[in-house]
Amino acid sequence: MTRIPLIAGNWKMHKTAEESVAYIRALNNVLILNETRVFLAVPFTAIEQASAAAHGTRITIGAQNMHDAEEGPFTGEISASMLKAAGAQFVILGHSERRKLFGETSEFINRKVHRAFNEGIIPILCVGETLEQRQQESVQHVLSKQLKEALNGLDASQIPELIIAYEPVWAIGTGKSATPDIAQEVHRMIRLFLEHSYGNKVAERVCLLYGGSVNPGNIAELMKEPDIDGALVGGASLDVAAFARMIQL
Ligand code: PEP
Repeated sequence: MTRIPLIAGNWKMHKTAEESVAYIRALNNVLILNETRVFLAVPFTAIEQASAAAHGTRITIGAQNMHDAEEGPFTGEISASMLKAAGAQFVILGHSERRKLFGETSEFINRKVHRAFNEGIIPILCVGETLEQRQQESVQHVLSKQLKEALNGLDASQIPELIIAYEPVWAIGTGKSATPDIAQEVHRMIRLFLEHSYGNKVAERVCLLYGGSVNPGNIAELMKEPDIDGALVGGASLDVAAFARMIQL
């Protein structure tokens, strides 16, 4: 089963709408013709202009978060339909920064995953263990729990539409990427979890990204691993030349 590679940038709280448009134009000018899918998770305020700038290119624009409710009294929040109307085609859900800094629970993330599917937005679900959990050898337990809770109630037919990003918390923004061996071991674990839950055919179709200090110097080795289908890149995606190099590699 061949899965199409995907490189996704997560800009976090960086770049205005104007800066996003300039980046997308520059990236599009240097994108080489390969089959890699290119996703950019931009700030809410840039989605509309970024989507317009990316129209007709190979670049897909998405969001970094959303609320699970259709609408309502949730000051400061954004709904899936608002994202869709602005042009977002995917959304990152359950990022460890959201779980840790904003107290997001697996139940909340699960409701968001359902909402994203209902609105026709591709969810990129992030899972990953802390350093402490790794040292306690509970990676499998932690990830199975996160996956089980986040995917609760989904139909097997929805699973291949989902993208899962393994992002070890200890590797995010630290410059200490997981080794290709460690990343592959966990990606295999995730694929086996999917296989046990939804069957081999479904599991083989799911795109699994690795995220955590990916940069132009380590992406090629990570991408050689059989269960790593792409990367979710934070800090290194802010520089258009570095991001273009990663797509090339
Ligand atoms: C992320 O936050 O999704 C991420 C992978 O960050 P970084 O690449 O900066 O470690």
